Amino acid sequence: MAVEKGNLSIHSENIFPIIKKWLYSDHDIFARELVSNASDAITKFKRLVSMNEASASDDEVYEINITLDPEKKTIVFSDNGIGMTEEEVKKYINQIAFSGAEDFIEKYKDKSDKEQIIGHFGLGFYSAFMVGAQVEIQSLSYQDGATPVKWLCDGGTTFEISEGSRIARGTDVILYVGEEGASFLDEYTLRQTIQKYCSFMPYPIYLEVVGKPVEEKEPEPEESEDSEDADGEDTKAPERIALNTTHPLYAKSPSECTDEEYKAFYRDTFHDYKEPLFWIHLNMDYPFNLKGILYFPKLNTEFDTIEGQIKLYNSQVFIADNIKEVIPEFLLLLKGVIDCPDLPLNVSRSFLQNDGFVRKISNYISKKVADKLNSLFKSDRPAFEGFWDDISPFVKFGGLKDDKFFESVEGIYLFKTTDNRYVTLQEYREKYPEGKIFYVSDPIQQSQYIKLFKDQSLEAVILDHSIDPAFISHLESKKEDITFARIDADLSDALKDGEVPDEATHKEAVEKLETLFKESLGKDKLSIRLESMKNEDTSSLMILSEESRRMQDMLKMYGMSGMDPNMFPVERTLVLNSKHPLVKRLMTPSDDLSEDTKKMICEQLYDLAMLSHMQLPPEEMTKFIKRSNDLLMRLI
Ligand code: ADP
Repeated sequence: MAVEKGNLSIHSENIFPIIKKWLYSDHDIFARELVSNASDAITKFKRLVSMNEASASDDEVYEINITLDPEKKTIVFSDNGIGMTEEEVKKYINQIAFSGAEDFIEKYKDKSDKEQIIGHFGLGFYSAFMVGAQVEIQSLSYQDGATPVKWLCDGGTTFEISEGSRIARGTDVILYVGEEGASFLDEYTLRQTIQKYCSFMPYPIYLEVVGKPVEEKEPEPEESEDSEDADGEDTKAPERIALNTTHPLYAKSPSECTDEEYKAFYRDTFHDYKEPLFWIHLNMDYPFNLKGILYFPKLNTEFDTIEGQIKLYNSQVFIADNIKEVIPEFLLLLKGVIDCPDLPLNVSRSFLQNDGFVRKISNYISKKVADKLNSLFKSDRPAFEGFWDDISPFVKFGGLKDDKFFESVEGIYLFKTTDNRYVTLQEYREKYPEGKIFYVSDPIQQSQYIKLFKDQSLEAVILDHSIDPAFISHLESKKEDITFARIDADLSDALKDGEVPDEATHKEAVEKLETLFKESLGKDKLSIRLESMKNEDTSSLMILSEESRRMQDMLKMYGMSGMDPNMFPVERTLVLNSKHPLVKRLMTPSDDLSEDTKKMICEQLYDLAMLSHMQLPPEEMTKFIKRSNDLLMRLI
């Protein structure tokens, strides 16, 4: 074969700089492109064999070998696939952007949508120039009597084709690594890169480093009759260790997978050594092809930020992590792999956003998750309850983000009560039909209120996660008949003894008390409620209007700039228990208490009420301690 030199058939000299610029941010993509090409070449060859259009020996082993030579600064990607003839090299490699180089330059030179361009214009191979200052192809086609071909190009627009040296069918792509790709001459980096994109590729990938012994493992002992062979001559040679798993678990049918395998796959894929809670194996052929496993991870502590990872694949080739156009946003809190061969390998986000097909995938996945949660709830409620603390932020977030999902899981939202039971909203309402649902957002801070509830065998639900305020509002907006009140926001009817006082007398008593407290405390504004409570030990109690408190919480949470949270102060009401002797005494008209004592009682009742729901500010605390000591002094 004569050496032939020529120009790459593109009509602009600028293609390489453009490709390089686009690819720059993730130029490790060359590994994906070259290994995928190698894998495709093997698949094509196997298909020809299966159609009897090519022949292969029975013990043919298909594999991809990557050889790194740090001294020579080369990386070789070698496959025993279909190979290329000279004609094919010219057609597929030279004519870059076979599908239209001019169009390519014209249309895309100002756009940054690089991934789509690479895929669309069949430029995958050229990503080799991100790393190789020069790239060489050595290929031998499967065709009978084919001549090996060599192609060499230095990243400019000229190439050289001559007779090649490959003797076995297949292709070598040799990268003569330049400055830009120098980091990939490091074995660890190269290995990581290959594993990132290729860990589930369908053919084994081996990495060999020139000058380093090949990594091997002892083969599994085979149980055969002559295994007792005394000299051990029959023992198999050690096996090389592939970088990838050619049959990832998700590609198998769920009935063939054991729990242990699911857990091991989780560990290996996500390097998370906490066991997942449970998982969903997706396996669908119609109306689109999709396989995958979604895991519900265990959270470390309640303070863990939930950070999931969903890896998206196309026929075992990694596309990207966490593509929220395909995976519903709330599912990104999970960990999992999804393989969808119908998706373009080079996904462009803007394309995905507008694609009806992608929306269907996304709906399918969230429906599967809802189904799984429902079936767990029905079939194994204790287990479901056991998972609830871990999965609830996720299920709540899902409900907030996705109406359909909310509708499918609304019946199984669990609420942990102050008696440590898990109930659904319906179950709670059946037991406590009275209007509001009382909740606790901080069991320690609200412990006094919880005690009041417990004394009357009442339960509040605990909603103490950072997602709960939003979740509460969401439930209220979706379900008209539901109102939540924090346990310190109101006095449950069940805490009152139901005595109905004479209206006029009651009004008068409240007014008197209000005046007395205002004067004693030196406050202009103070609202007071007088209640006859079942619990006779409680003298006073503070309640905070739910609405104003939520408003303030929101301001604090979003830290709205320039807004002083105190602009909307929380409306507090001091509740006095008319059953309590101290309150009774204050209400007695023929009062022989000294003004000083009255003031002291008012101040103390107020502080005690405040203390039951918050820490006193330092100054108030100092006063409270002093007053408490003064009161004790009166005992001696
Ligand atoms: P794409 O793979 O998207 O078609 P590429 O630029 O990666 O675009 O490759 C162009 C073509 O070159 C491939 O379609 C294939 O026909 C051929 N090719 C590339 N690498 C190999 C290989 N290792 N073995 C055989 N053919 C190859």
